[in-house]
Amino acid sequence: MKRLSFFKFFVSRKLQSRMLWIVIFCCGAFSCEDEIRTNIPWAPVSLTLYLNDIDKKLLNINQPQLYTAQKPNGHNEQTDRFGYGGILVTNTGAGTGINLLAYDAACQVEADRTAVAPDESGLHAVCPKCGAVYSIVSGGAPVSGAKYGLQRYTVTRGTLTNSFVVTN
Ligand SMILES: [Zn+2]
Repeated sequence: MKRLSFFKFFVSRKLQSRMLWIVIFCCGAFSCEDEIRTNIPWAPVSLTLYLNDIDKKLLNINQPQLYTAQKPNGHNEQTDRFGYGGILVTNTGAGTGINLLAYDAACQVEADRTAVAPDESGLHAVCPKCGAVYSIVSGGAPVSGAKYGLQRYTVTRGTLTNSFVVTN
């Protein structure tokens, strides 16, 4: 009787061990999807863009604008929040189909506050330190030299016509 219970105990332990491995495997598989693919530290972002006024340059397609506390680009460096390395905004929608994409300008390689700079085409942003290239018309995806894409920020419509709000 004692032996039997020991056997049962042994089997259940083995089963438990297998189940544990299954649980670990599942957690691993699912956690990959939740993994944050960025090296950029969280930093507050709060910037309202006025495309009928101070931000009218953004009405042009693929002419990215950079906003930082040092170069607020017409915004308030005291009250607005410019993310970690500044906020890079570009419009990929022509005419009335405004489609703004906003990124943290910090390069994913150094993850310091050096801002990436748009190239002449306005399609890419290049890191002045390491030369990493990002596609800013397709979600900030790395083109070369970086593992992760630029940190993306959310853009929603504001209360005024052609105003937009950039937030984390
Ligand atoms: Zn870099």
